[in-house]
Amino acid sequence: MNCREVRENLELYVLDGLSPDEYQNIKNHMVVCPECRQEEEELRNTVEKFRSSANGLIGESEDFEKLRKHVNSEIDFIKSQRTRHKGIVLKIAALFLVCFGFFIGISLFLEKRDSAKKHCSCKPWQYTGVVPSRGNNNVSPLVRSQIVFALEGNDQNQHIVAIRKRTGDLLWRSDFKVTNYLNADDSRIFAWSRMDDSEMVLLALDQKTGKLLWRYVHKPFSDKLKQSQLLLTEKGVCWTEGNRVILVDARTGQMKWTRQFEARGHLSLPKETGGRIYIASSEALYAINPSDGQTIRKEDSGLKPTFVPPVLICEEDKIFVAQTQMFEGVLRCHDSGTGKLVWTRKTGVILSLQADGQHLFARSNRLLVFNSRTGDPAWETAVSGCSPVVCSGNYVYVTSGRQERSVTVLDPNTGRKRRTIPAESSCSGLVIDGKMGYLTGQNGILYSIKIGRS
Ligand SMILES: [Zn+2]
Repeated sequence: MNCREVRENLELYVLDGLSPDEYQNIKNHMVVCPECRQEEEELRNTVEKFRSSANGLIGESEDFEKLRKHVNSEIDFIKSQRTRHKGIVLKIAALFLVCFGFFIGISLFLEKRDSAKKHCSCKPWQYTGVVPSRGNNNVSPLVRSQIVFALEGNDQNQHIVAIRKRTGDLLWRSDFKVTNYLNADDSRIFAWSRMDDSEMVLLALDQKTGKLLWRYVHKPFSDKLKQSQLLLTEKGVCWTEGNRVILVDARTGQMKWTRQFEARGHLSLPKETGGRIYIASSEALYAINPSDGQTIRKEDSGLKPTFVPPVLICEEDKIFVAQTQMFEGVLRCHDSGTGKLVWTRKTGVILSLQADGQHLFARSNRLLVFNSRTGDPAWETAVSGCSPVVCSGNYVYVTSGRQERSVTVLDPNTGRKRRTIPAESSCSGLVIDGKMGYLTGQNGILYSIKIGRS
């Protein structure tokens, strides 16, 4: 590897987005090349600088717009400086805009949690002491049949709680400390537990009793992996880890397959439709066989590799992928039958996607809505906060940021406001189940609220 190749990949190297081989090649080069080493050090310092400045800001506000302004002013500052590495420093600054709401934002939130203890008169019930769900990882609460699952405790020490949906009574609390990512099928609930720095354990618990069914001890392939969101497929429990995908049998906890992709940068979370698992890197969209992890089809995106993982969602006949490149987002729609690209559109940076069969909802610093068949813009509106929208029935529910404390109900065709449901806390994790909504507030209270119909 020569210096030019090293410099081209330096961003991915510093942000841990390379394959183990590529990583090792650069590492070997660093040993013998002081110039590249210096470049690496400057880049790491820049990353650290942004990390800590964003950290201070998030303490004050969870508002994406504020963070964006703040990072933009940092970028202006760098532009005014004379430095040899201006290009790459600017690039990192731009990427930081995007990271909020993804993984860095999440880990920052974990450190700077708001511990307000507000009383609340919400009806029909509330449960105090839960860990708020954050950013785009809308995994808590989780509603299955007659039970609402949430995480209780603080970030260092959190347990699963199972709460009776009708009454808000506690059914059981897990003995295990778990990380943020839960998922559940009809009878089991799955979560990660951390043993030490080198080992993670995937747990399967019985939904009714909280009893341990199995545990799968996992040595992460990347030492940066702390936790990963879980996808449940017909074949098992699946997750991504850097550029790998792993699937474990949901009944037994046996690993069925692991697959490493040639992709540079991080993979999206896996999603399943039509008996296939879809996964995207910035460079390609893959359809893979859930039985063995082999690629059925690959569609190149023509985009450059970046360490920001794409956002991917599936509908029965369509796959949507949002990819961030510098300050911009590229939104693509593929036909799931043929894999072919149906439409593509340039947008702002996209934090999350939702679809309701006719529309695609892209959460950027505004809420952008597209006709999902044609990609034509339908409407857009200003939204605060950064959590995903929820599509349910004939409405779209948008949870507010810290200032407004409400859930806004919109008409998906026009964007017109139908009504506002007051919420006692700013909120991110909203799940709608029939006429009720379950919402974890930033104040640590899980609310069941009446969504009703209008
Ligand atoms: Zn060099």
